[in-house]
Amino acid sequence: MEVFPPRPEHAAAFRQTITALASCRPAFFSLTCGNEADRRPATLDWAARIQRETDTPVIAHLTCLGQSRDALRREVETLLDAGVANILALRGDMPRTGAPSVGFRHAAELIAELRTLRLPLCIGAACHPQGHPEAANADADLRHLREKVDAGADFLVTQAIFDVATFTAFLRRARTAGVGVPVLPGILVPAGAAQIQRFAQRCGVRLPRGLPSWFRIEEAQGGELAGLTHAAELAVALPRCGAPGVHLFTMNREEPAQRLHARLRRMTAGTRTPS
Ligand code: FAD
Repeated sequence: MEVFPPRPEHAAAFRQTITALASCRPAFFSLTCGNEADRRPATLDWAARIQRETDTPVIAHLTCLGQSRDALRREVETLLDAGVANILALRGDMPRTGAPSVGFRHAAELIAELRTLRLPLCIGAACHPQGHPEAANADADLRHLREKVDAGADFLVTQAIFDVATFTAFLRRARTAGVGVPVLPGILVPAGAAQIQRFAQRCGVRLPRGLPSWFRIEEAQGGELAGLTHAAELAVALPRCGAPGVHLFTMNREEPAQRLHARLRRMTAGTRTPS
């Protein structure tokens, strides 16, 4: 389950969110990271707290764009001291002003650097089944993905997936390109039709034809949150298509996540889906 560290004034509410999400017994918490210097300590701090207080493994995201080698090494050592050995190594979003002139430029450089430290880390990386929005083309993007795996990534987490076909087609292409590590598909925990569309737009993901209108119809009919059934069906179907589990983008909203979890429990009747 992915969460993001709160602003200091929302710390108490975030604690409650984590307690509520932990009651779903996720296989891990995945904690995002900002590139801004003043946001980074929150990731280190909350990664340690969540792991200690929930006894659930944490995957700490670490972005590298413009970061220095020394600063990143110190952050990794802080995480390891807190018992957090799982890292999602990312570039981070490109600032509107363009790439910084110093520091790391691509996630593959960060992964290679982490491996030179010879520390006991499990390192993941991001992948973009529809192609990263900045990539010259899909083949170039896949080549760069392979570079991340060759540099030492142990697993991959996808950008949000909204249909099984996108995942299976991507997995086939990745395997053909020599990407052999486990690929965990990302699923948005939905909280309404408008939120799904905003999220997809922000991530540069195209929603399958007809899906936005379907969510709007669901919402207009009231009842359960629009998109919940669709997300639950995806979370059940993807592990049957080669995914080792799913990575849920919770957006720090415990209620939709708990509803999705309850739905999944009913649908899978006893089998466990890591998220
Ligand atoms: P990269 O792998 O570096 O790729 C970025 C682009 O550069 C791609 O177009 C790639 O094809 C291209 N590229 C790579 N190598 C080269 C090369 N050698 N030469 C030329 N081009 C190259 N962002 C955050 O800020 N914080 C988070 O916590 C966070 N968590 C995320 C979690 C998940 C699961 C995902 C999917 C994304 C997350 N992001 C996060 C967003 C991520 O930072 C952006 O998608 C970012 O734009 C790309 O990150 P990346 O690690 O895939 O970059």
